[in-house]
Parts: sequence; structure tokens; C-alpha cells
Amino acid sequence: MDKTELKEPINFVEAIVEEDLSTNKYEGRVHTRFPPEPNGYLHIGHAKSICLNFGIAQRYEGLSNLRFDDTNPVAEDVEYVDSIQEDVKWLGFSWDDRLFFASDYYGKLYEYAVDLIKKGLAYVDDSTAEEIAAQKGTPTEPGVANEYRSRSVEENLRLFEEMKAGKYEDGEKILRAKIDLASSNMHMRDPIMYRILKAEHHRTGNEWVIYPMYDFAHGICDSIEGITHSLCTLEFEVHRPLYDWFLEKLEIYRPQQIEFAPLSLSYTVLSKRRLRKLVEEGVVSGWDDPRMPTVSGMRRRGYTPASIRNFAKRIGVARRYGIIDLALLEYSVREDLNKTAARVMAVLNPLKVVITNYPEDKTEELTAINNPEDESMGSRTLPFSREIYIEKEDFREEAPRKFFRLKPDAMVRLKNAYIIRCDKYIKDEATGEVTEVHCTYFPESKSGEDTSGLKAKGVLHWVSIKDAVPAEVRLVDRLFKDETPDGHKDKEFTEFLNEDSMEIITAYVEPSLTAAKPGDRFQFMRKGYFCVDLDSKEDKLVFNRTVTLRDNWAKKNN
Ligand code: ATP
Ligand code: MG
Repeated sequence: MDKTELKEPINFVEAIVEEDLSTNKYEGRVHTRFPPEPNGYLHIGHAKSICLNFGIAQRYEGLSNLRFDDTNPVAEDVEYVDSIQEDVKWLGFSWDDRLFFASDYYGKLYEYAVDLIKKGLAYVDDSTAEEIAAQKGTPTEPGVANEYRSRSVEENLRLFEEMKAGKYEDGEKILRAKIDLASSNMHMRDPIMYRILKAEHHRTGNEWVIYPMYDFAHGICDSIEGITHSLCTLEFEVHRPLYDWFLEKLEIYRPQQIEFAPLSLSYTVLSKRRLRKLVEEGVVSGWDDPRMPTVSGMRRRGYTPASIRNFAKRIGVARRYGIIDLALLEYSVREDLNKTAARVMAVLNPLKVVITNYPEDKTEELTAINNPEDESMGSRTLPFSREIYIEKEDFREEAPRKFFRLKPDAMVRLKNAYIIRCDKYIKDEATGEVTEVHCTYFPESKSGEDTSGLKAKGVLHWVSIKDAVPAEVRLVDRLFKDETPDGHKDKEFTEFLNEDSMEIITAYVEPSLTAAKPGDRFQFMRKGYFCVDLDSKEDKLVFNRTVTLRDNWAKKNN
């Protein structure tokens, strides 16, 4: 990890790990895992979990596995398997040679299920899903046993084997754990262990027609891999007795499950189901649309791995649900890019300025520092000529005294260049719009060697018109305009989309940017951080706005 990384305070999970290390609970081992289901792309919530799992392994010189929880062939796909691996690596973590799949253990899981049947702790049930739901009772009423619950071990063994052999159709039979139909914990009321699914699996093909349920498979996978601390989100707290029950009854190695609060972010939805809807309905261009809170979307937008890791450290790990302000993530991005992004000039909304006393055919190469925060980033040259663009908003015909940008008879400094004075401006009579500003420049006021004695409060960015390169700039903004888009009872989250989340404009950028490659990040001076998009080509530059220089949303809401 690089030197810009934040120092982290200890969180409650680390406190547990340290306690376990001090009592030598797992012979001094620390072994975590990140267990995604390959049914979508990873999002910032998963990134929190990755930073936690891999971070703990790093901190305590332990190990962390990447394990695909691929127990539902219907929803899963290799596209997701590939993207998840790419994203974990990009975030800066490595599972070394410990890449696993729950499907690797199908044979063992089957054997464990047989063990439970033999112990009289599992049975084949022929009831329909509706019947099972009805028999299960409610939190205040116990469930009732059906005739299948008392099947003999022999019969259960035979039926389970027949289920595996494909003798029955989907939904005809299931295997259930025989626990307690009166338990106050609904998850303990004879939960399903296996279901029949005649679907092709992305790794095992048609080899299996029965698939284990998450609760049965997960703890066993953890146990097989020798996981010490199995970290998951809070909604699994009520599953923990079941996690422990399977491992205890099977008499196999027992990791401990520890639950932490999932990340919720304001102005964001973080469920794969909802994100998939945005993709499928064409609201966004794909899982990696720069407005998506996916790891691939954030990468495309220009967020850095360090900024995401720093964000994860800042928010910490708690046991209680809470919503984190999206501004905190944006702050982490800005903070990192401030240190690492080169400052360049780009005019997003151009207004022509003619420097009337500058020779017509002259072009001068000026020197510009790449990043005042980091001298090692060096400098570059910048062409200056008689006609330049500045931002429209940097000129006003009638401006208050405190407007330190360009206005009639006032002086401003052009960044890295000269002081100019506004002498005159031309207006389109029909629209009233100012179309051109005429200025005088002062040759002795050149940046770095100014002997003019002139004073100019404002500093403007600019580009030389004949040298500037047009570029497509996507002004990426928040995808939702509501703080909790999925928190409204009677309204779909899609009703809160921000229709201004990606305005596309043509900007004029300094010529040094023609060498930029997809993924390169810059600060467009006074305008924000921008990243070269995947769609960018040699003859057509495309940028995404990564983040504005300041939090504009805080202002909007006050
Ligand atoms: P989602 O609910 O967003 O669709 P999921 O929980 O179904 O996600 P999994 O692939 O099962 O996605 O998650 C892999 C791991 O990431 C799990 O350990 C899960 O607890 C964790 N995780 C998922 N969402 C979050 C979140 N918002 N914050 C922190 N960890 C999360
Ligand atoms: Mg899940």
C-alpha cells in the first residue's frame, strides 16, 4: 500500500481478532474470506467488505480467500466471475492461489448432507413450497410437523440419492434439516438444505441437479477452508445459530461468524437487484456506467483504489445500521486526486478573447507546473497565442466590485501566462450574448518573471484557440437526487433519478492531453477532476468528470 494510505483506528472486528490471537484460539491463525455470489458486479458495499476481509489478513499477517458462493445456477454467470476478480485485484488485494468456488465442494457438501441424514438430522420432504410455508407457523405460533418428518433414515437416504440422480423434477422434493419447528428463530424451523434445480451451472454444467442452500453450504465451505473469522453483514445475525448448528452436528472445524453493518450510502442504491434493473432498463449504459456505484463504474469514472480504501477506513466497521454521506466518498476521491492528478487547462464553455497587442502569427511555449502538491511530477509546455478561450462565466459586462474575474477595464492573470486587461467586448445584438472580448496583454507580466508591478486578483484558466483540442466531456453527477432513493414506501427508487446526471458537452483542452490514455486522471483547473473514458480514441478524446472540486450538493440542499 502506498504512503497516502490513512492510518486506521482499530474496529470491533479487529478487537475480536486480537483477543483471539491473545488466547491462541486458532493457534495464532487469522484467515478470512470474501464470498461474493457471481450474480452481478461488485459495488461499493462489497468494496467495504473486501477492504475489511483482506485488510484484516494484511494487518495480522493472515490469509484471505476469494470464494465464489455459486450455489444458484439460475442467476449466475462467468461474466460476473471475471469482473469480480478484476475488481478485487484493482482494489489492490490478492488472494494468491486461494481462489475457490462453493461448487468445488459440491461432492463434499453432498457427503455432509448424507451424514446428517444418517444422524437422523435431515429428511426429504415432498411438500410444496406453499405447504412448507403454511406449516412453518409464524414468529408467535410454532410450526407443525408433516408426515415426511418421521421418514426413516433408510428412506431418506434412498430418496436423497434419487434426487441427486435426477429422478424428480424441480420442486418435487427438498432436503430439510430436522431442527426445531417451534424455535423462536424462524431460520431454525427445519430449514431447506437442498433443492432440485435442473439448470446448467456455469462451472459444473449438468453434473448436478440438486443444489445446496446458502445456509447449509456457507459454513461448511468456511470450515473446509479453515477460515477463522467469517465476516458477514448484519442481516445474517439471525442465521448464526444455524451456521453453528450444522458445523456442530457434523462435528467439523468451526470458524466464528461475525456480523457487521452493511454500507448504505446516501443518494445511492446498493442492491444488485436494483442495479441490474438500471442496466436492464437502459437507465445507464451498463454495469460500468460511470454513474454506477459499482467498482467498475467508479474505476471508469476515475475513482482511485486508494480513495476507496481510504473511504472504507474512514467509515469504519460498526454493528449498527447507518447511512454514510456520499460526500464522504467524494471527499476521499478529491483528497487522493489532489495529490496525484496533474493540473491541466480545459475550457468547458468557451468565450473567445482576442489579445489585440499580441502578434498574429506568434505562438509562445510557456512552462506549466504539473502539480504544485508534488514537484516530482514535473512540468510541461503550453502554447499561448493571440486568440484564446476562457470560460463564459469568467466574464461579466456588469459585475459587482468583488467579481475578480474579467470585466470591462479590469485586469486578470491568465494562469501560467500574462496579465491582461479588458478593453472592449462584442455583443450579438439579437441575443444580447457577449461573443468576443478584446484585451491588452502586458509582456513584462509573464508568470515566473513578472516585473510589471501590476496587480491582478483573479487568475483564469484558458486555452490557445488554434492549439486547443475539442473533447467530449461527460459531466457525471449523482445518479439520484434523493438522499434515500430506495427508502420510500410507495415509490419506486427509479422515480428519484437525477435527470441531470450526465450532461455531455464539447470542451477545449490543452494540446498536451492528446497523449492521454483511458484511465488517466487530471485536474481541469478550477473545474474538477476528470478521467479519460474507455470510449476515448486518438482522434476523439472523451472525459468523465470524476468529481467536482467542491461539494456542490451541500450548497444545493441548504
Ligand atoms: P446485494 O444485497 O447488494 O445484492 P449481496 O449481499 O447479495 O449483495 P453477495 O455477493 O452475497 O452480495 O456479497 C458478498 C459479500 O459482500 C457478503 O459477505 C456480503 O455480506 C458483503 N456485502 C454485500 N453488500 C454489502 C454492503 N452493502 N456493505 C458491506 N458488505 C456487503
Ligand atoms: Mg447475498
